[in-house]
Amino acid sequence: MYSKIINVPIVLEIGENIFIHMDEILQRNHIFFKEKILVTSPELKELYKQQIEQLSFDEIMLIQGGSYEEARKVMGNITNKDALLVAFGGGSVIDAVKMISNDLNLSYITAPSTLSNDAIYSPIARLVQNGKKQSFGVKAPLGIIADIEIIRRSPRKLLLAGVGDLVSNASAVKDWRLANAEKGEYINNFALTLATLSGNSVMSYTIDDIGTNRFIGDLANGLVISGLAMVLANSSRPASGGEHLVSHAIDDLYPMRTTLHGLQVAWGHLLLERDYRQDDDDFEKLRLFFDRMKITDELEHDLHFSSDEIARIIARAKTIRDRYTILSKF
Ligand SMILES: [Zn+2]
Repeated sequence: MYSKIINVPIVLEIGENIFIHMDEILQRNHIFFKEKILVTSPELKELYKQQIEQLSFDEIMLIQGGSYEEARKVMGNITNKDALLVAFGGGSVIDAVKMISNDLNLSYITAPSTLSNDAIYSPIARLVQNGKKQSFGVKAPLGIIADIEIIRRSPRKLLLAGVGDLVSNASAVKDWRLANAEKGEYINNFALTLATLSGNSVMSYTIDDIGTNRFIGDLANGLVISGLAMVLANSSRPASGGEHLVSHAIDDLYPMRTTLHGLQVAWGHLLLERDYRQDDDDFEKLRLFFDRMKITDELEHDLHFSSDEIARIIARAKTIRDRYTILSKF
């Protein structure tokens, strides 16, 4: 029988006050390593000091995250090949751990302190290297332990960015279908389905739901499934289309005016629906959802570009990488 083997998370635990039970969770899932290293930010270490002290970490490494050079400096000297890294933080900390785990061939799990993008289970790390933000293909984590109570306490804006990143799967999937129809690009239907379903999973919520267990659980699961779609496709294709190219173009052209990845992607998604794809219904649906979720307010607050600047962003987006999207048609 022909089958495909893929890696899925060994542990996926999303629940209230579970961070403190990390040792038991790892044991229960037969995850044993000689050494367990917590990698987190100084702020989170201080904030969750009591909980961290009760867990059996052999070492704690502190990073701000976001830069490859810093990550190498802090974690580059780990010599024990039987060490498990636990990335406790937002996207920047997680991406730094991913990158180093990949370099040193170590295993890692993620314990997100917020859900600002699909970093928690994606096979991609975005980090600044040599002064420039870049994407790197890496191994996905062994598992995810997401404490809803911790995530609930994170800034609302970060969660809205996570929503923007997840919902943008709808745009990525449209571009994938387009590339299939017009260029014959292969589509992995299973990956496409996972990306579509996860992308739609938070569309019924409003800003009033943001602190609820149900919303945080759905957002966390959605981001994990979205990451799994990328693992399955062996590409970011299922969750990254023209809207991500727009976000990367903003990073390149206007590094001083950037905001959270998920918000830039949401902005790009809306722009593509409004100006490039010929589907008024989808644009209207997205606009109303962003209004209900108050993502619109964040976009209006953070991202201001003149029509000339938008034209530059689009022109740059088309050259970012060799990926056929709706923008390729213009
Ligand atoms: Zn993204």
